[in-house]
Amino acid sequence: MKLKIAVQKSGRLNEDSLKLLKDCGIAIENGKQQLKASAANFPVELLFLRSADIPEYVSDGIADLGIVGENLLIEQERQVKKLMPLGFGRCRLSIAIPKEEDYFGPKGLEGKKIATSYPRTLQNYLQKNKISAEIHQISGSVEIAPNIGLADAICDLVSTGNTLFRNGLKEAERMFTSEACLIASSAMLAEKELLVQRLVFRLRAVLEARFNKYILLNIPNTQIAEITSILPGMKSPTILPLAKEGWSSLHSVINENDFWDVLDQLKEKGAEGILIAPIEKMIL
Ligand code: AMP
Repeated sequence: MKLKIAVQKSGRLNEDSLKLLKDCGIAIENGKQQLKASAANFPVELLFLRSADIPEYVSDGIADLGIVGENLLIEQERQVKKLMPLGFGRCRLSIAIPKEEDYFGPKGLEGKKIATSYPRTLQNYLQKNKISAEIHQISGSVEIAPNIGLADAICDLVSTGNTLFRNGLKEAERMFTSEACLIASSAMLAEKELLVQRLVFRLRAVLEARFNKYILLNIPNTQIAEITSILPGMKSPTILPLAKEGWSSLHSVINENDFWDVLDQLKEKGAEGILIAPIEKMIL
């Protein structure tokens, strides 16, 4: 029995999806032309599909799991279970307008023509804000629509904002943020649950490790209590005496998001010789 996982065949999420699975010990030797590939060391078969088809394959039970952007789940409203966010493919769905135009809120979109590949999401947004605007559905290169006179505004995915900038547009409204996530079929056989749990366990270990760093530092013994409260670690930090009288070495983990703030506090409390190292896997 094998878990069938649908992943993007080519595109922005493909490389990160395969890297994440590889870090979980699921390595696929795949020529990109293949539509299916099995892993040698975990009972998994990958199905390489177009992004937009993944939610449907998973809701129909052809694939047990899938890796897709949340933006597609919102647009397609398929019946699938969202298991966990995966920390890559971060973007937002935004409305953008020509950069020389003033923007005073969603009401400014009244009567406008908006080009998008996300018609349902845009429709819901307009309805919620009681705006009547014309939706022009196109499947790609949405950002050139205002330039060629096809639309007054666009509704599209943005990550750095560079594409908008290059096309003379500016972000006017952020509708929501999205990242890649793991989805599961409601139609999945109960016998496969255990395999899913094993995979989710590995994914958590890899993702926790990606968001955390191992930190070692030298601290005066008088500061042990204070520095321990700044760096509580997983259970508590490890503290070892240094050969130098009155000093200890403290080992702990630190979340990447807090990293720079915490570093400032540590220096203020007298920490020295701070080393930061990546963690490969982290099991809580
Ligand atoms: P692709 O098939 O290569 O267009 O990949 C599209 C998926 O990548 C989207 O469904 C999003 O979840 C994700 N993504 C992340 N950042 C962006 C971006 N700036 N533009 C388009 N898609 C993005």
